Amino acid sequence: MIAKDNLYVVFIILFLIVFTLNQFDVVRIIRRIFIPKKRFEEYDSFLKQYFNYYRLLSEKEKKRFIFRVHNLIQIVRIIGRQGIKVTSQMKLHVLFSQVQLTFGFKSYVLPIFRTVFIYPGSYRNPLTGKLHDGEVNPHGVIIYSWEKLKDGYLNSTDNINLGLHEMAHALMITIIRTDKHDQDLDYYLNEIIKLSKREILIIQNKETHLFRNYAGANIYEFFAVAVEHFFEAPESFKLELPALYMYMTKLLKQDLALKKYRS
Ligand SMILES: [Zn+2]
Repeated sequence: MIAKDNLYVVFIILFLIVFTLNQFDVVRIIRRIFIPKKRFEEYDSFLKQYFNYYRLLSEKEKKRFIFRVHNLIQIVRIIGRQGIKVTSQMKLHVLFSQVQLTFGFKSYVLPIFRTVFIYPGSYRNPLTGKLHDGEVNPHGVIIYSWEKLKDGYLNSTDNINLGLHEMAHALMITIIRTDKHDQDLDYYLNEIIKLSKREILIIQNKETHLFRNYAGANIYEFFAVAVEHFFEAPESFKLELPALYMYMTKLLKQDLALKKYRS
């Protein structure tokens, strides 16, 4: 039994909670927790159609995946550029990369990165004048060419995936610049950076390497290319660069070579 005085305290606390959260917050929280059955089925059939990674998940993992996508749709602003209209297909491609990369984590929201720009194709960066297919601005904007974002998932064995590449940059920045992520990520990222320095020299010396030449540009591009290989060719990655692959599994809490999507 709760004593009468304690009951008053409980009521006062409940009263304060309800009034601290405004109506908008309450609606938003409910929307995030509950996914209508019809919406769930729409997500499920879309994701099965476009993403090999999703098709290989167990039923329980598929639910977890959809829950995360549904939640991120309400958090991440996706804005079309050069007149492109943002469709649900575009939104799901953008968010797929984020959920896929962070699927092993408890915390899958990247707090700095809540804005995405989509261009129809390659675009020119007004500052550098160079043509780009994608970029991550450390101030919190991720930019994609829709054409290349889509291509990344249409061909899932060429080790080129724009969505995963840019998300890898966003994750690396999040780990280095914030503490709003799963606990041990700093340690494993550091180990990966240590190993990558040796590999970058090999690529820069034009010796044969599993990764494409672009990985030799710097530690950031190396990590982004490593993520693309991790998801698209885990077996050859594990065979040729076992130590690096092992730290990638520790960092991402997934082991694609063993078909493990969460540790
Ligand atoms: Zn890059």
